[in-house]
Amino acid sequence: MGHQERGAREATPAAGDMSAEEFRRFGREVVDWVADYLARPERFPVLAQIEPGQLRSRLPSTPPEEGEPMSRILEDFERLVVPAVTHWNHPSFFAYFATSASAPGILGEILAAAFDNKSMLWRTSPASTELEEVALDWLRQLMGLPEEFGGVIYDTASVATLHAVAAAREALNLRVREDGMSGRADLPLLRLYASEQSHSSVEKALIALGLGQRSLGKVPADNEFRMDAAALGHMVEEDRRAGHLPFCVVATVGTTSTTSIDPVPEIADICAREKLWLHVDAAYAGSAAVAPEMRHVLGGCERADSLVTNPHKWLFTPFDLSALYCRRLDVLRRAFTLVPEYLRTPEQEVVRNGSDYGVQLGRRFRALKLWMIIRYFGAEGLASRIREHCRLARLFASLVEESEDWELLAPVPFSVVCFRARNAVEGETDAERAARLDALNERVMNGVNSTGEAFLSHTKLKGVFTLRLAVGNIRTAEAHVLRAWQLLNEQLSKLG
Ligand code: PLP
Repeated sequence: MGHQERGAREATPAAGDMSAEEFRRFGREVVDWVADYLARPERFPVLAQIEPGQLRSRLPSTPPEEGEPMSRILEDFERLVVPAVTHWNHPSFFAYFATSASAPGILGEILAAAFDNKSMLWRTSPASTELEEVALDWLRQLMGLPEEFGGVIYDTASVATLHAVAAAREALNLRVREDGMSGRADLPLLRLYASEQSHSSVEKALIALGLGQRSLGKVPADNEFRMDAAALGHMVEEDRRAGHLPFCVVATVGTTSTTSIDPVPEIADICAREKLWLHVDAAYAGSAAVAPEMRHVLGGCERADSLVTNPHKWLFTPFDLSALYCRRLDVLRRAFTLVPEYLRTPEQEVVRNGSDYGVQLGRRFRALKLWMIIRYFGAEGLASRIREHCRLARLFASLVEESEDWELLAPVPFSVVCFRARNAVEGETDAERAARLDALNERVMNGVNSTGEAFLSHTKLKGVFTLRLAVGNIRTAEAHVLRAWQLLNEQLSKLG
């Protein structure tokens, strides 16, 4: 950073914070740095090109005895820390689910950090509580979800799903809150169902809630990676016959590997018939519903008991912000409310206190950035960006389809393409070909990633090593996608 007083020591008095003057100076410098970064993140390799332990070995192992000048700290930030950053906010970040910290979202984070609110009670942060209600209701409307859905912001979808499963269990009225689950002969095995393509956070929720992995019924998926609803129905029946207690189904709209969409209307029928809590994991693809022509992807979700979507995935919101919608917020509240004397307030009967809805007491003021993002881009601005990402994914998929050397391995309903190189070698057996292509595709991916120009990740589909190109960064343009395609082909001709 272009420091005016490189190396010069600012006074570090024994009490109080950095002076307003100094904050203003370095604040401007940092904002300038961020503005340059956002304007041209391509000057950095998207995947950090460093070895494990490299950054650590370059930093002192003990803390400084005396304060250091901010100018020197920022120099070390640029010299040591930045090279160890993997740039999620880079337009050629195509790995996992690509995400964005948009500029209005970053401004929201700065302001929220200044307030440092702990939004546990309405009175400890009325703005946070009420903006959370407003921003989540706006998002609900943008996604076309029913009015009965009340929202709560958590950090991540994993945590939101954990709370949804806890609410589903609370709805059984088994006194788990009071008596726990251990040492109880009166409890059958509780069963929750999710497809074999569901996210690991579902299984982790069962582990964390003391239900155990044994509680998970993994429902097979069909050829296009969607939950087989008929198989779900049979599993529930069998479990009932065995004396178990089915209580919840997690359907996914936009699975992690392929973005497949479980048949939510059929699953909702089964849940209604069997009286099971339906939770929908739309962590990634819920954002797509902001584009009116894609709203149908949430078909059936209006019948869910709860649904999670992550604005921090595909709604241009800096990490973290996950929205849980719940038709029965009272049940969620019942599962978690616990108010010691020092947190009682005169208005508690008429306001919403965030800490009643989860394990956390203090909660970050996350709603501010979402409110600012929705206002800044507007419904149309958000939808057009989602639409463009889907177009770029379809463009990439068409290049794959038109090429002899590559093949698609899954449908492309959103902005993620699953594919692989598939060149042939004469005289190979099927098994030899399968092993060779797995190894080849892995080397192609690693080759692209080591250029620093693009970053892709992989999954396994039906046992096959699969490359994924996920479009989702707000700055990704057609040129970035075409360059990724070029890099893949260069690597393939080098290695194939
Ligand atoms: N659900 C799905 C479908 C996901 O793909 C992911 C993460 O990629 C999650 C849940 C977990 O998200 P988070 O990192 O917010 O916990």
